[in-house]
Amino acid sequence: MFLFRSNLLAAAAKVGSVAITIGLGSAPNQSARAETLPGQPGAPYQSMPSLAPIGTRVDHYLPIPKEDVTPAIDPKKGYRSQQLGRGLYMVTDNGYQSMFLVYETGVVVVDAPPGYSAHIRQAIAEVTDRPITHVVYSHAHVDHIGGVNDLGGHPIIIAQEETLRLLERAKDPRRPVPTVTFKDHYTLKVGSQVLDLSYPGSSPHEPGNIFIYAPEQKVLMVVDVIFPGWMPWRRFALAKDIPGYFDQVAYIDTLPFETLVGGHVNRVGTHSDVRTQLEFMNDLKTAAAAALKSTPPGEEMEAEDRPNLWAIYDNYIDRVVVKCVNAVTPKWQSRLAGYDVFIWDQCYAMEQSLRID
Ligand SMILES: [Zn+2]
Repeated sequence: MFLFRSNLLAAAAKVGSVAITIGLGSAPNQSARAETLPGQPGAPYQSMPSLAPIGTRVDHYLPIPKEDVTPAIDPKKGYRSQQLGRGLYMVTDNGYQSMFLVYETGVVVVDAPPGYSAHIRQAIAEVTDRPITHVVYSHAHVDHIGGVNDLGGHPIIIAQEETLRLLERAKDPRRPVPTVTFKDHYTLKVGSQVLDLSYPGSSPHEPGNIFIYAPEQKVLMVVDVIFPGWMPWRRFALAKDIPGYFDQVAYIDTLPFETLVGGHVNRVGTHSDVRTQLEFMNDLKTAAAAALKSTPPGEEMEAEDRPNLWAIYDNYIDRVVVKCVNAVTPKWQSRLAGYDVFIWDQCYAMEQSLRID
């Protein structure tokens, strides 16, 4: 176990069966005024750790719920494939997800995460020897499309026009710019197969992040928004627009899919997963709002720190976040895989959004 100083935050964070203890490295007290180290009896700010929780280590992580332990990846292959309907397959390394769609004379690939892009042609070869004719980019982020050159050939690359703009700016040889772009909708009809591509006008995750829908297979792919069974990636998956992110998760639940490919984690999702994530997010919002309401800025500040405006707010925000974490943990710690890893991040993001958005 990592060293942590006895402090009330660790005690405050101890909820249910799990103690979220904050590992604090050695933090020499640089103030001549205090004779005691932060967190020790007699030191100021007893309800705070001597360092912020983000970036510190817990002594252990919560176990992953059994249902979220997945079909294993054959290490010799580096991926597994899962058929989602006629001619439609998901490829995954249990961390990232992409798709391919087989039609009469070729194959459409959706995303090429660099972590396993070298294996995508092999995954396709397991079911067909037809060539890759098209690639669809879900969005511009390199971790989802940066392996496209591994697909070989010269496929037509389709993306939303914001993705073109971002990729022209990035000038990244790993991410060739799309050759076909669209603004709102694009129907890709290849042989007897169809992919409906649409852009809902804006995207809370990244401009140009599209919805990819296979109507016959009732499969919807939206990347970096829904994390089936899991805590969302930190800070609502780095959403640039948190109220917009809440709206988009609710909107996804209204769509007529049966299978959701979220681009991450170890399995596909369903409407039930979307609703669980939304319920968690709403609980988080309620908790952060209540914490903001019940926490006065400046409380318990040392007189000599009062001129330090940033310190007053840093202290205030930390106290809000501790309350937020403690409020949501009993219900959610065993329901979302990786809950403990990012709950601090989510509460920080939520309180900030509630204060300024
Ligand atoms: Zn992304």
